[in-house]
Amino acid sequence: MFILSVDSLAKDFYDGSFLRTILLIFPGCSEEVMAVPKRKHSNSRTGKRRAHDALKARNLQYCSKCSTAIPSHVVCPNCGYYMGRTVVESES
Ligand SMILES: [Zn+2]
Repeated sequence: MFILSVDSLAKDFYDGSFLRTILLIFPGCSEEVMAVPKRKHSNSRTGKRRAHDALKARNLQYCSKCSTAIPSHVVCPNCGYYMGRTVVESES
């Protein structure tokens, strides 16, 4: 007996052969199945696609009032200073 789970379908989706096997066993379910890739992507192709996915560290500026390192175009979380004036009043 076969037990199919959504996880195993998702895991094997890009393999393609799994779903094509299911189509051979149950030809009637073809309308419910998405387009299936013909071949497995190589590890090289996946790596080349992901070569640009890495996150880069944000460029930090220093607050002109309190010198805290903050991202540009962001109100200083320490003193509430932004664009030459205090935008957010701090409680202390
Ligand atoms: Zn500041």
